[in-house]
This record gives sequence, structure tokens and C-alpha cells, in this order.
Amino acid sequence: MDAGVYTAGKSKPQQVNAKKFLEEIGVREVGEADQVEAILKKRYTRDNFKPKKQELKRFIALVEMEPNRAKLFADYFIFEGEDGKWHQPGSIFLDQPYMDTGLSAYYDAIGGEAKRYALSESYRRYGISARNIAKFAESVGAQTRLEITSTNCQANPQRAYLHSVLGDRYTSPIDRDYTISGIGKLLANPTLALSKLIWRTLVSLPTHPNYLLATYRKNERWGARHADSQFVHHLRDAAWVPQRNGSFVRPAEASRDLLPEGFPFDQGWPWLKAIHFGQVAVSQLESQQQKQALAATLGFTDAECMDRAKRFAALPVDEQRRILAEWETPFELTDHEPANPTRRAERVAAQAANAPERITEERRRSISINRAAVKQEAGQYLLQQYTNADGHMICQACKKRLPFQLDNGTDYFERVELLTTLKRHHKQNYVALCPNHAAMFQYANGSTEKLRDLLIDLVGNFLPVVLAKEETRIYFTKTHLADLKAIIGADEGDAEETGDEANDDIEPAYPVESGDLSGRTKIAAQR
Ligand SMILES: [Zn+2]
Repeated sequence: MDAGVYTAGKSKPQQVNAKKFLEEIGVREVGEADQVEAILKKRYTRDNFKPKKQELKRFIALVEMEPNRAKLFADYFIFEGEDGKWHQPGSIFLDQPYMDTGLSAYYDAIGGEAKRYALSESYRRYGISARNIAKFAESVGAQTRLEITSTNCQANPQRAYLHSVLGDRYTSPIDRDYTISGIGKLLANPTLALSKLIWRTLVSLPTHPNYLLATYRKNERWGARHADSQFVHHLRDAAWVPQRNGSFVRPAEASRDLLPEGFPFDQGWPWLKAIHFGQVAVSQLESQQQKQALAATLGFTDAECMDRAKRFAALPVDEQRRILAEWETPFELTDHEPANPTRRAERVAAQAANAPERITEERRRSISINRAAVKQEAGQYLLQQYTNADGHMICQACKKRLPFQLDNGTDYFERVELLTTLKRHHKQNYVALCPNHAAMFQYANGSTEKLRDLLIDLVGNFLPVVLAKEETRIYFTKTHLADLKAIIGADEGDAEETGDEANDDIEPAYPVESGDLSGRTKIAAQR
């Protein structure tokens, strides 16, 4: 409108009234918003498209001044995407370098189904801060967080329950559920970036509407039924929560303490409850607490004590009685005390001064070369036969792991010759025993005479012998037994006498340098 229309004449009130009248009938002053809109129409529509990237500065300035103008941009192709094409704000998403949203991970994961594009990084070259670009893009409709979309209950796993709400007529129906587009694909191959994006989305979930809930209703009279929403089901069932050990687990199996950095946590968040976060640990704790309570009522100090009692009760009754008898029989320790300590000490010191000196000299001793070599082989043979799947060796009499390990970590066992009457030395003619059973086998063996016959007639894997007056069953592998029967057979056909010394000492399966053991060997030899 020609400005003369409302500025002509000399009367100030007339001029004011003329302008007021024009404004009241809808004539506006031309402002920045109008000019921007004109630019948008001229250069940013599908038909008129001659964009200038530097104009973004002007758009940003307008929305900073007048935030309610943001909706003006919705239909115009004002953003260049990373795909090199221009898009409306609704087809753009933000991520680095503008804003750390993690959305790239989502669009990478869903691939071809993507309907949005990352904002081109080229805007960085026009002297606008990334923060300002991000703020503007977000206000005009670019995506900055994972979108939860509204849908119907058709695909909800609890559909049957929801649909069976009472009522005949659909007078005021509600059929509302929520999902995240492509979530199945997303959770199938989780990455840390994806998990972080989902986590952040959940953290910033608004309370209204309640995205965690699906709702189905036919009419007001019969009310609505609620169930967990579709994406809650997805999140609950998939292993997508990262743990510090690098694994991804279902929320129920996850532990708060194992969440990596960048995963804020607040026990009170409703979505954590909805996806059953940490529930396995909680139920374990609860059952542990219940067990403790039960143990206390039954008079046990704790649940572990109750477990031991259960194991004891599972033993054969005779065994229980034996253990109790053993436990309840007081065992007296010898209690010598010198009548006159001073005189005794003097006497012992005097004797000590005259004790024979420790002098060593070299002596010739005959050693069976064959036997030493065979015994060495026997060690290897037994190791092979009696090492279990866990890599532990067992005592053939205990049928349990050997009681201790050598400094190099291997189980200590003793190789004891089984039949001392054979004419030759055979590596198969040895058993692997713990030190206790090795000593019993040699010095408290009630079956020595019968061993050969017992072995020949043996069916099964256990050789019954009497050791230290107790019935004991020595275990043999099938291979070992077959080998033994073969060498006994060969021995019977062998007329030749070989005449080595008998097996009457203990030798460890390993070379031991300590003087203690050679001393023990001598003592054994004297016996
Ligand atoms: Zn043993």
C-alpha cells in the first residue's frame, strides 16, 4: 500500500486513525518474516528451487528473534542432506558434528528402510556455530531422538488379552500401542552406539503419553485393558544391554554395576521396571533371603550350613553313624611333661654334644637299571590313564583328585608296583595312588597274596582289596585292565627268570631332590 494513504494531511490523529483502521481490516507491515517467507517460496519449493546455503544464517536469525516462526519452514526444502539432495526439515536427522544424538547408528542399522537423512556437514563452512545450526534444525522439525511411533495393538504379543476386553458395541473405541520403526532389526545386532541411543531415548521418555502401555477399549461402560507396549516387549526379550565385559544381555540378566559409561541409571525410572531390568539378580537375592530365613527357623546358622546338613542327610545311614561316632569320640593327645625340666635340658644337651657327627661318604649301591627305566615309563602311562577331563589326576583308591600339587602345578602321585611276582618289569604293572594309599598298599595290604587271581577274574572296573583292614576298591580303566591281563598271560608263558629286586620301597613319580625323601626311601627299605 502506498504510504501516502495513511501519512497524507496535517492532522496527526487522522494519520494515526487511518493506520489503525488499516491494521484492523488486516493490512500488515512488511516484516522480516514476510521477507523470509517470500525467499522460501521463491527458491526453496519443488518447482522453484535455487537454494543458497548462506541463507541459512538469515533463517536462524529469524527463529532466534521470533521462535514461533519455526513452523514457517516445515514445507520448504531448506536443508542439504549428507546424500547430496535437499530435504524438508522432517526428512533430516541430526548427529555429530551438530549434536551427539547417536541416530546415525540407528539409520545405519535399519539401512534401506531409512526415511531421514543426516544434515550435510558442509554447513560448517558458512561461519555458523554447530550449536546454532542444531538448535534451529531441531526447532523446525529435524529429528534429534529416536522416534516412538503410535500404532494399533494388532502386533502386540498380548493382543489376545487386550482384544478380549468386555463390551459389544464399539461406541468409544481406543486401540493404541507404541513401537519403534525397525526395532526388531535394531536389536538383532546390537552395538554400543545403538544401545546408548535406545537408552537415551528411554531416559528422556515423557510421562504423557505413557509409551510403555498399550490400551484397548470398545466402550466406556466396560472400560479398557492395558498391556506392555510393543517396544517394551521387544526391549525385554532381546539381548541389547551392554555390560562391561563386552557382552550384550537381556535387561533381566543385566546388572547396574556392569553398565558401561554413558548409561545413566535411576532405580525409580518406570521403564526400567517395565523392561524387567536386573530382575534375575533380584529374584536370586530374594530366593537367597528366603533360604536364609528358612535356615534360621530350622535352627541353622545360615543357608550354607543348611545345605551341608542336607548333604549329610543324603549319605548312607551307616556312614552318618560312623562320622558321628568318630566325631563324638574324644581323641586324647599325648601329654608328656618332664618332671624336672632343668635337669632334663642339661642331660639332653650333654647327650647332644656326644651325638654322632653327620659325615657323608660315597657308597656303591646296586640299582636295577631296567626297573628305574620302566618306572619312569609307568609314570607317563598312569598320567595318561588317570587324568580326568578337568586335567586333574586321581588316586585309584580314593577315586578323587590327589591331595596336593607340586610347585610346578602337577598333581603329586606315587607309582606303586601292583604284582611283585612277575618275572619282568612292565610299565602297566603299576598303580597311581595318593601317598596315604601308597603306604597302605605296601605296608597294610591284606590282599597281596590274592592280587594276581583277583585281577585275572576281575569283571568291571573295581578291584576289591583290603587296605589297612578296610574293604577298598581300586579303580582301573578298561585299557589298564586289558593291558594287565595281557602281561599276566605273557608272564605265565615266560619261563626265564629275570631276578631283579622286589618292590619294597616308595619312589615318587617325579624326581625329587630333597634329602627328606631319600631318607624316607631308606627307612622303607629297612622295613
Ligand atoms: Zn588315595
